[in-house]
Amino acid sequence: MTTSSLPRLQGAPVLVVGAGIMGAGIAQVAAQAGHPVWLFDMREGAAAAACEQIGKTLAGLEAKGRIAAGQAQAAQARLQPLAALEQARGAALAIEAIVENLDAKRALFRQLEGLLDPQAVLATNTSSISVTAIARGLQAPQRLVGMHFFNPVPLMKLVEVVSGLQTDVAVAEAIFDLSRTWGKVPVHAKSTPGFIVNRIARPYYAETLALLLEQAAPPQVLDACLRAAGFRMGPCELMDLIGHDTNYAVTNSVYEANFFDKRFVPSLVQREMVDGGMLGRKSGQGFFRYPQGAPAVVASPTASIAGARAVAVYGDGPVAEALAAAAAAACAGQGAAFQRVVDSAWTGLDVDGARLVLSDGRCAAQLAAAQGVADLAVFDRPVVQPMPPGMALAWAPAPQASPRWREQAAAWLAALGFLPLEVADTPGLVVARTLAMLVNEAADAVLQGVCTVEGADAAMKLGVNYPAGPFEWLQAWGVERVVAVLEALDAYCCGERYRVSPWLRRHAAATTSGIAPK
Ligand code: NAD
Repeated sequence: MTTSSLPRLQGAPVLVVGAGIMGAGIAQVAAQAGHPVWLFDMREGAAAAACEQIGKTLAGLEAKGRIAAGQAQAAQARLQPLAALEQARGAALAIEAIVENLDAKRALFRQLEGLLDPQAVLATNTSSISVTAIARGLQAPQRLVGMHFFNPVPLMKLVEVVSGLQTDVAVAEAIFDLSRTWGKVPVHAKSTPGFIVNRIARPYYAETLALLLEQAAPPQVLDACLRAAGFRMGPCELMDLIGHDTNYAVTNSVYEANFFDKRFVPSLVQREMVDGGMLGRKSGQGFFRYPQGAPAVVASPTASIAGARAVAVYGDGPVAEALAAAAAAACAGQGAAFQRVVDSAWTGLDVDGARLVLSDGRCAAQLAAAQGVADLAVFDRPVVQPMPPGMALAWAPAPQASPRWREQAAAWLAALGFLPLEVADTPGLVVARTLAMLVNEAADAVLQGVCTVEGADAAMKLGVNYPAGPFEWLQAWGVERVVAVLEALDAYCCGERYRVSPWLRRHAAATTSGIAPK
């Protein structure tokens, strides 16, 4: 199939099959973009009810001034519920948003092939089934493409345009262009488990679940740390919102589809909650009780930093610079001598020989042994620049640290402007560990041709509202530092889960050699 044999999709009639949450949203967006939209659902009356509801939504948007006067009625007039699929002849594009079941989707597309023009484009909104598998058995599998919208469809900008093994490039490009005219931001993806967003996002949940399994910190502390890193919701409150049954099912499907790769292994913590019916907000109890929600976090008790004689900030880069400015000010207030040591193998603070060290992936016990300093604590990577005052930050003392330095380390973090939250002494703590794993997954997705670097960044920012794309973090953090965190986790946990993506290794080697990889 070449571009010239494709029907012109702009303004052409669109058939949407499935009038549930997603189908109704897709129908609304297509109607607002000027298409005649035919909506069909196997449940009698469902399509008509959805059209009526869309009409009300559009009228509400117009009343609030979000769309121009007259647009609601014009869009609603373009919407038509169908009593039978046979009435859809003449649609140039069919978008399926029916039940997430391979056999049902295959059967529907076979039926549509017999009904629609041979050039019509067939699109599936599946979130987890292989587009290649859905196309199997079609007379023209090349005209089937994934058009993966995000919920709620009218608000979420991202569309993953998913190509199966047989999808024609021209078909994927036509859907890409069409999505743009619908006000969306399309990103090309290869049909692989979880596509882009549902795959790269796995560590956001998985690392928190692993930390909970290790009893590293309570859920509200992990949430506070990741919110401080710029995420709108912490992983625990987010899993409570999504529903643990849904989140666990997606995790299982990605795990199975990846031949039980340990990287995607589901968590016992979540399975117990699902088994116990603690599904999150919808059941009134998940990590937190509802409607109350998460309890407030309790910061580490802090003593006074008075009495410090000599303070030095080690390391270079934005974190060291921010620490230096805050520490210099704190020292001036205490009459302590302040020194800046830029050329250093570690970043952090030295207070009369005791140390607060920025996580490089190793835990405090390892750093204490490596530096020969018992009074040592490690703190998490603050990724938000400039760091807002009172920013939650995980830290952990080395087991060999004195009680006095445990108090003083928290006091110094507070004096530097953080809200110190003590967690167990685990490699990469909370934010560094989670971000490194998100970057690692994104790197593997690019390595495997699932998406481009730009596609991964756009998908994560628009599909799940991440504060930055994984490759933007990588750029700011530095590939060698990210690899160091992953290597520390890998060495500590001794399993396949934290293996470093070859893409990152290649780029780390290139950074060291100064030659960019092709
Ligand atoms: P839903 O249950 O709200 O709606 C599905 C609708 O399809 C129902 O109204 C049902 O009656 C109808 N239906 C089922 N089988 C049918 C058939 N053979 N022919 C015609 N109608 C049929 O589901 P949803 O959440 O809208 O999800 C629909 C699809 O979109 C699924 O493939 C899902 O994986 C995918 N998706 C869902 C989300 C989400 O957040 N809900 C996000 C992205 C993609």
